[in-house]
Amino acid sequence: MPGPSIVWFRDDLRLADNPALRAAIDRDEPVIGLYVLDEESPGIRPLGGAAKWWLHHSLASLGGRLAERGGRLVLRRGPAERVVREAVADASATAIFWNRRYGGPERAVDAALKAGLREDGVEVTSFAGSLLFEPWTVQTGAGTHFSVFTPFWRACLALPAPRPPLPEPREVGGPRHPIASDDLDDWGLLPRRPDWAGGLRERWEPGEPAARRRLREFLHDDLAHYDRARDEPAAGATSLLSPRLRWGEVSPFTVWHEAVEHGHAGRFLSELGWREFAWHTLFHSPDLATANLRREFDAFPWPRLKPSHLEAWQRGRTGVALVDAGMRELWETGYMHNRVRMVTASFLIKNLLIDWRRGEEWFWDTLVDADAANNPFNWQWVAGSGADAAPYFRVFNPDLQAKKFDADGHYVRQWAPEHLSDDPPAPIVDLGETRKAALAAYEAVKRAPRG
Ligand code: FAD
Repeated sequence: MPGPSIVWFRDDLRLADNPALRAAIDRDEPVIGLYVLDEESPGIRPLGGAAKWWLHHSLASLGGRLAERGGRLVLRRGPAERVVREAVADASATAIFWNRRYGGPERAVDAALKAGLREDGVEVTSFAGSLLFEPWTVQTGAGTHFSVFTPFWRACLALPAPRPPLPEPREVGGPRHPIASDDLDDWGLLPRRPDWAGGLRERWEPGEPAARRRLREFLHDDLAHYDRARDEPAAGATSLLSPRLRWGEVSPFTVWHEAVEHGHAGRFLSELGWREFAWHTLFHSPDLATANLRREFDAFPWPRLKPSHLEAWQRGRTGVALVDAGMRELWETGYMHNRVRMVTASFLIKNLLIDWRRGEEWFWDTLVDADAANNPFNWQWVAGSGADAAPYFRVFNPDLQAKKFDADGHYVRQWAPEHLSDDPPAPIVDLGETRKAALAAYEAVKRAPRG
């Protein structure tokens, strides 16, 4: 049926390799871009502060890029099931396209909308745009999903290779009569008083053009050192693509193919594999952010929370050099290097004996790449309760980790220089004693029935 099409943008804030946008353009009818800020649908997790900051700027960039091509981005706020139907009615749209989401509550919203809109005679089509492999296509020989990474990734690589990315459209013909849109500034996504985003502005440029630039720069300048230096937080050898992939400013298909063309990318590609693994795990376990994947960890006797310890960790005032450096990098820039994420998470869980969920919540609020799958997946990985997780008794010693991965102290000097002074702060807990206490508490998990 002729009539305008809506492209519902979600975690895919880009024009290039956007199959939903491509399908709408190919229909030769006016195209309306729609973004819905949904903080109300049941189970949808409200965004954290740093994520909101990124979203604001990424939407501004996407809106500008659509406008340059004759299109328009309409912003609406509210429960998606209602708001999307209203937008379809306002625009007299006869078709809507979107790229699939994989979280439980999001899938419920999308399924309800699909059914309702189709009943109204609207064409609804969804596409694979955010993951290289659809979760239901990767299975063990027994038809179950994988809980160990290596066979998972082997099974992915045995499937047909990820499709090549789609080119960026030159024109996006918008409708003659635009429908109402909110003003982005009225959404209040940016911090006002206090404005804590100075460090984020300094470090990042959200939006698709910067994402593509960073990908090219990484492949050209850094990929050659990736295998050797990816674990060193001061080396700058990783891609810094995580927020860009989180918001879909660059698609994993684009990253995959450009890295493959570049060559020698095996290790880097397997990191994209961990992203796939985390998302497939979330698809099969939608409560990943709140429930232990291995249920025997429900028996872990977390002691009563000491708020002063949690706060010292959040503020980077634990008296442990690498932990303090990492937590301050996070607070200042919305990002932390992967090795340091592991060390700070292990310290919270195994030296402060604080439930991993408290750490996951803090990262959710402060990371610009806060990701519904990667964040809880990795927290559970460090805690030992997750898929293919590090064994609980592997307790990182943050001082040894610093010696190994920040040998000349560049990273600690940048973020927590007082630790390298003549009078460094003392740790708030004894690393050896707390490690012993954590291992003793873990005995309760070992006795619990395996789940
Ligand atoms: P690169 O080394 O260049 O890797 C390329 C891409 O692969 C990344 O952008 C990311 O998309 C993916 N990737 C790399 N490592 C992992 C991993 N361990 N798990 C899943 N995907 C991975 N990553 C997030 O994107 N969002 C999060 O909220 C998040 N929370 C984390 C919490 C903890 C406790 C830990 C230990 C790790 C977390 N990670 C998270 C994973 C990892 O730390 C970041 O993806 C990585 O540091 C991003 O930097 P990069 O883009 O330079 O990574």
